[in-house]
Amino acid sequence: MIDRLGTDAVQGFLEDTSNLKSGWSPGVFFPESCEEAAGLLRSAVADGRRYMVAGNGTGTTGGRIPFGDYIIAMHRLNHIGEVEQTDEDTAILRVQGGALLQDVQAKAAASGWHYPPDPTEKTCFIGSTIANNSSGSRSFRYGPTRKHVRAIRIALPQGDLLEIERGRYLADSEGRFSLELPIAGQLSFMRPDYGMPSTSKHNAGYWSAPGMDLVDLFIGSEGTLGIILEAELQLRKAPEQVIACIVWFLTEDDLFAFIDKARSGASGVAPRAIELFDRNALEFLRQSYPEVPRNTAGAIYFEEETTRENEEGCLEAWMTLMEECNAPADLTWAALDAVGLTRLRDFRHQLPVQVNEWLRRQSETKVSTDMAVPDGQARQLYELYRDACEAEGFTCIIFGHIGNAHLHLNILPKNREEFDRAKRLYRKLVTEVIAMGGTLSAEHGIGKLKSEYLVLMYGEQGIREMVRVKKVFDPYLVLNIGNLIPTNFYEIET
Ligand SMILES: Cc1cc2nc3c(=O)[nH]c(=O)nc-3n(C[C@H](O)[C@H](O)[C@H](O)COP(=O)(O)OP(=O)(O)OC[C@H]3O[C@@H](n4cnc5c(N)ncnc54)[C@H](O)[C@@H]3O)c2cc1C
Repeated sequence: MIDRLGTDAVQGFLEDTSNLKSGWSPGVFFPESCEEAAGLLRSAVADGRRYMVAGNGTGTTGGRIPFGDYIIAMHRLNHIGEVEQTDEDTAILRVQGGALLQDVQAKAAASGWHYPPDPTEKTCFIGSTIANNSSGSRSFRYGPTRKHVRAIRIALPQGDLLEIERGRYLADSEGRFSLELPIAGQLSFMRPDYGMPSTSKHNAGYWSAPGMDLVDLFIGSEGTLGIILEAELQLRKAPEQVIACIVWFLTEDDLFAFIDKARSGASGVAPRAIELFDRNALEFLRQSYPEVPRNTAGAIYFEEETTRENEEGCLEAWMTLMEECNAPADLTWAALDAVGLTRLRDFRHQLPVQVNEWLRRQSETKVSTDMAVPDGQARQLYELYRDACEAEGFTCIIFGHIGNAHLHLNILPKNREEFDRAKRLYRKLVTEVIAMGGTLSAEHGIGKLKSEYLVLMYGEQGIREMVRVKKVFDPYLVLNIGNLIPTNFYEIET
């Protein structure tokens, strides 16, 4: 195993895309085997160390940034196995946690298979996407990462290595899990006792549901319960082809009528992604895409999987929908082949990338939301954000996964006074979204940036439930302290 100590060695690990800048660490370890990773945790208490797990730093919530902890970097655990077909329509692929998502997707594609989770940023590690239950645009059809993970191999905070296959450890009828481990011994505990929102995406806090699988407790736990070292991913047959379009609208009424019809499959459309750009997002993108039409109320990006036989019918169905919703046909950008698809996806991806790049040049950082509401309330969420920002006079953009009633609001403060006001507004928006039955985070997770707001969603008792489960696996609090659970709930010095 390689280890590097000192300020220079850790520099690259003190950031992600959150703009949190105050992290520090005495050193970083790069385990080269599962045993080495588990060994670090096994001796953590004796060595007087706490650890923060680092993926590739594309996270948006400061999750990998250490505040005095040593770093366990996943970069050398990057092996990708061979695709194994299990039946006509599915295959599995075993990978290590530090494998790049884009390499995993390429490996699957090379033999005609498809790994659906696609959190638009492809340079993330697969282990992080599992730790964060990442999703993205295709989740409209395929759901988040948890739906595509068959098994994980995890290093637990006391140093046990545990393989969890789906179906192996289920909560009993009362919600109790029981398992026996070589180091931690007999573990018997109840699943977290709280309800979850009825949104179609949710990634805030430990998963809990009747009869749940233990694997789902670890997926989305943001590294607080263990390190995801390996995973068995479920693949699907790759679609024959994919069509995509960006459709522009002159009024918000037409825009939302289109979203509703597309979601419900009107005219026979079957999108796998429905993404929104508001007027301001389009203005932002015009800086590098001058061809973006002017004076539109917003735009929708959609994708649908097609075959050579049904492609024409699909396009006709979409044209009908566009006509019904008054979308100017001459403005539409359509992609009917791989080159066009990449171009449109780049356009979609450039929005968060350019916002992040713009922010690096500013003195203030953005205030951004990742909240979702139950399906059917997407327009209310959009209007809540738009009206609140207009009333405050903020520069902001609204974009993202409208098919799942999940929108990112990015407020871009011009000065400290605006930043402070934006933070106050954020808290108010969280309260309102939760009152609508929504979630604090639909996909990015909580990390360090948002942990103080988690109590608004679960109440103090809900957070104590998370602490109870955390301490079952991590009684000495050595792993990813500061992520997800607000540290004041541990009643320790951090
Ligand atoms: C431009 C852009 C667009 C994005 N779009 C989306 C999107 O559409 N949907 C979406 O869901 N996300 C999106 N993201 C967020 C990000 O890509 C994901 O959260 C991703 O999973 C982070 O991966 P990473 O390897 O960079 O992790 P890091 O940022 O390094 O770490 C993230 C967290 O995971 C923990 N972690 C890392 N590896 C492990 C492991 N092996 N075991 C346990 N814990 C671990 C870390 O401790 C940390 O808490 C976007 C990011 C960017 C920059």
